[in-house]
Amino acid sequence: MYDVAIIGAGISGAAIAYYLSKYELDVCVIDKEPDVSMGTTKANSAIIHAGYDPEEGTLLARLNVEGNRLCGELADELGFPFIRVGSYVLAFSEKEDATVKKLYNRGVANGVPGLEIHTKEQILAREPNVSDKVTSGLYAPTAGIVSPWSYCLSLCENAAVNGIDFILGAPVLAIKQTKDGFVIKAGDRDVEARYIINCAGIYAAEICGMLGKREFEIHPSKGQYFLLDKSQGNLMKEVMFQCPSELGKGVLVSPTAGGNLIVGPNAEINSEFGDLSTDNAGLDYVAAAAAKTTDKINYRDNVRCFAGLRANSDRSDFIIEPSAQNARFINVAGIKSPGLSAAPATALYVIDILKEQGLELTDKKAIKKVPRRVSFARATKQERIELIKQDARYGNIICRCNTITEAEVVAACHSPIPPVSIDGIKRRAGTGMGRCQGGFCSPRVHEIISRELGIPYEDIIQERKGSYIVCGKMGGNV
Ligand SMILES: Cc1cc2nc3c(=O)[nH]c(=O)nc-3n(C[C@H](O)[C@H](O)[C@H](O)COP(=O)(O)OP(=O)(O)OC[C@H]3O[C@@H](n4cnc5c(N)ncnc54)[C@H](O)[C@@H]3O)c2cc1C
Repeated sequence: MYDVAIIGAGISGAAIAYYLSKYELDVCVIDKEPDVSMGTTKANSAIIHAGYDPEEGTLLARLNVEGNRLCGELADELGFPFIRVGSYVLAFSEKEDATVKKLYNRGVANGVPGLEIHTKEQILAREPNVSDKVTSGLYAPTAGIVSPWSYCLSLCENAAVNGIDFILGAPVLAIKQTKDGFVIKAGDRDVEARYIINCAGIYAAEICGMLGKREFEIHPSKGQYFLLDKSQGNLMKEVMFQCPSELGKGVLVSPTAGGNLIVGPNAEINSEFGDLSTDNAGLDYVAAAAAKTTDKINYRDNVRCFAGLRANSDRSDFIIEPSAQNARFINVAGIKSPGLSAAPATALYVIDILKEQGLELTDKKAIKKVPRRVSFARATKQERIELIKQDARYGNIICRCNTITEAEVVAACHSPIPPVSIDGIKRRAGTGMGRCQGGFCSPRVHEIISRELGIPYEDIIQERKGSYIVCGKMGGNV
């Protein structure tokens, strides 16, 4: 029997798993998908917010500000990319100047360090591509950009090497309450655990309902994005928000941790569960809204459009509490934005709840650390020569757009949570993220996964269950 079963391997579940891996506990993470970070955690704006946006006194505010600080610590410790580029909320009218002041005051009350209100001239001096209609802006130096799946993977891999079990491709179908805890039906397995943490994102109400009653509802809200090529990546140095509305933080224009430019999202209400489609209406809205920030975006350099689903609930704050039906079942639900920013603080908050509910925590004597990934692209010429001398596969470029070598793809195949898909390699090694979006490297990655992991060629998937790429060998002498 596990001490704790975490349902959901997004950033919330990953952060909880990471911090729990520091204690002498048997813990598992269960996810319906074949890999970690495949829910909302992989499709969002990727901003570690400073924390001026949420209302004072909410969990949203407290965990955002603390999560931002902890993200910096974790990035230093584990080596995932997190760049504190800073952010602006831009005002374009007197009314919006007042909003900027309100956000400044709220940020100060929330304990956000370093906030400043900048004039039009100060903003244009730093960011010459911003529209000259800007009137003022709230500058937040602690805001940053992250690669959300690298962040999530890094937490999961470090949890895995410290003994946390990852049960992937195992949808939770039912939960039975027993004298000692729970039996979770996960795919074709029965998993027993003393405590459950429900981190199932947009499906958290469904998982809670498996106890007997849904204690809240989730109403997904879709947001659509453009992701532009690196040629557009220098348009802005900082994250550029507009003033928020009742629908959310509005459309942003921001550099990404990978050097691209991201533009979006819109905010659709009552979206369908699982609907990650993009459409002209949503994207046209995003482009029109972004034009207020800058008219310099060249959408001909767009490399991908994508969408994410916010886990908005019927409450205004995050729902992080023991279930009213069984206090050993802890809901971590309604984790809308800034859930990515808040994650490490959310995890520590959940661990305090576990302690209150009687879970004993004994520190592990030794903690292992996953070695940092080698990046051939970022290596100096001399470092590259040394790498190729050590392993000739560093001399074989697989992804030409991002200069990713065979050795890096092989290392990704043998990572602590081995990928079973082309996109799993993409999230670990960075292949397929360049201008061609995998057009050239995917067949080569396909071959390497098959060779390294002994998976038959036709069983390899693009991303989700059933997303096969080839259906078998062609007949004849091909
Ligand atoms: C458009 C958009 C923009 C955003 N921008 C930002 C931002 O810039 N900064 C920020 O801080 N936050 C942002 N967010 C919010 C942030 O992305 C989320 O708060 C965060 O990713 C939620 O993580 P999670 O782990 O709670 O949920 P998820 O990442 O959704 O993980 C839930 C997991 O549960 C699994 N699961 C579900 N049902 C089952 C089941 N039955 N059995 C097993 N597993 C199951 C899923 O497969 C999934 O892996 C944004 C969100 C959206 C949609």
